Amino acid sequence: MIAVFDIGGTAIKYGVVSLNGEIYRHDSFPTDVRLGGEALIDRVIGRVKELQTEWEISGISISTAGQIDSVNGVVFHATDNIPGYTGLNISSKVHEATGLKVSVENDVNCTALGEHWMGVARGAADFLCVTIGTGIGGALFLREGLYAGPAFAAGEIGHINLYPGGRVCTCGNEGCYEQYASSKALEMLVQEKFDSIMDLRDFFEQLRNGQEEMLEVFHQWVDDLTNGLRSVVHMINPELIIIGGGISEQGDFLLDAIKTSLYKKIMPNHASKLQVKMAEYGNKANLLGAVKHYRNQYLREEKGVER
Ligand SMILES: [Zn+2]
Repeated sequence: MIAVFDIGGTAIKYGVVSLNGEIYRHDSFPTDVRLGGEALIDRVIGRVKELQTEWEISGISISTAGQIDSVNGVVFHATDNIPGYTGLNISSKVHEATGLKVSVENDVNCTALGEHWMGVARGAADFLCVTIGTGIGGALFLREGLYAGPAFAAGEIGHINLYPGGRVCTCGNEGCYEQYASSKALEMLVQEKFDSIMDLRDFFEQLRNGQEEMLEVFHQWVDDLTNGLRSVVHMINPELIIIGGGISEQGDFLLDAIKTSLYKKIMPNHASKLQVKMAEYGNKANLLGAVKHYRNQYLREEKGVER
């Protein structure tokens, strides 16, 4: 049994999970990332100690935002959203406090690993995982494994350029994809157009009822979304794109709109081999992916097999 954590912007989800992926406990507690990286990890350690009073915990795996050196469990780079996170050696800090083996991986990579292990990407050798939320995250799973790159920064699809000179992005550039195709971008578009703040769930409800003006806004957003996907498809020729993040709960309505728009934009040879699916495991995928990463790191017999 290992303790698994998923560190997000407003909450830390966690679970007690077997190495086969059976989740025995699944819960979350609120957190404030502005307290900084050290405080965040101290809270994780505190929760591990609580769990140890009830469960036999043999290891810890952590899924987190940031570019993660997943070999050494160090934050290679993180934005100022989590002060003091860059450079933090999560593995050694947690190991020193608990004595347990620790593994750490980027959260979108964990989504990809979780979906490949147990979800919609089972059996896929080359796929792209895109999580759509406040920003847009990406993970590249190529030739049967995650592709991280030398700075653990590959798959930053949210920051490919969509509109030169466009909106200023959190990364310091202008016109980044996530400024136009994230959930937050859709919220802003709705707000601009209708001069009111609308919850996206209500917005999708209206879309399903065929509200014309809203459909127009929606299709504009989908158009930007698939413009970014088109570039990546032509670059890596994936067999599958997984759409994750909160918006994936909109299911087939959103999926059908993305597919209709995307297939028109890509070359027929790419389209013939490409599937697009919603993530299956929702907010559990990261926990499962963290377990898979832990297995890849510590169960030697798994190296190179059954990835
Ligand atoms: Zn950017």
